[in-house]
Amino acid sequence: MMKPILETFEHAGILEITVYGLIINFGIYFCSLGLYSALNHFPWKQRLGDQQPILQSDLILSIITVFCNTAVFILGVYLWKYGFIKLDKDSGFIQVAVEVLLLTLIMDLLMYVFHRSVHFLRHFKQIHERHHEHESTNLLSLFVLHPIESIGFGLMMLGVLLVFPFSAIGISLYLVLNSLWGTIGHLNHSVLPRSWLKLAKKGYLCTSEFHYLHHQNPGYNFGFYTSIWDLIFKTIHPSSGK
Ligand SMILES: [Zn+2]
Ligand SMILES: [Zn+2]
Repeated sequence: MMKPILETFEHAGILEITVYGLIINFGIYFCSLGLYSALNHFPWKQRLGDQQPILQSDLILSIITVFCNTAVFILGVYLWKYGFIKLDKDSGFIQVAVEVLLLTLIMDLLMYVFHRSVHFLRHFKQIHERHHEHESTNLLSLFVLHPIESIGFGLMMLGVLLVFPFSAIGISLYLVLNSLWGTIGHLNHSVLPRSWLKLAKKGYLCTSEFHYLHHQNPGYNFGFYTSIWDLIFKTIHPSSGK
């Protein structure tokens, strides 16, 4: 399935790769904004708090984030072209499912460490402060990040891909899951079934409530996909899952 796409990238020059990167990353951006708006109109939603006002500076920064993600994408394609990153062109369903799970769990731990570091290390703190100007959330919050933070996340992922070989489809599905979870995490409404909230308390899942509590109380809930590391390191907010 990914074979024709990889063959296209194999023969593409820098200009074509940049255009593909922009199409993919702006595609992810608009899908996230669309999904956010759709979920916020769900009939059974529950409001978590007032929506963070959308500022022009947020819009500009969110577009800069898309350009940063595109730069990381271009770097990733070149690391693959020069043989530093190895990709399987064809893989079976079970292999892909295991890869998505593994990539999510590895990134979950790395993102917990990265996120906790940017909260507590003095110089890094300024980098993450821009994201925390959003005491509540809006449809742009996921993309309101200091460029160092966006590039840091991208480099962290490329670092994992340099060490472990994954298939192109596994990486693509992980990135879809990452955008989906990032969008759900920044909803200022609760849309997931109530039983799922208990999964956050047990350490399995980060929900909209879980990350909303982080924006309100930045000393807690550093997890992105699962709350397992918050549970282990005792940084889970007492109200998580209630
Ligand atoms: Zn956030
Ligand atoms: Zn934070």
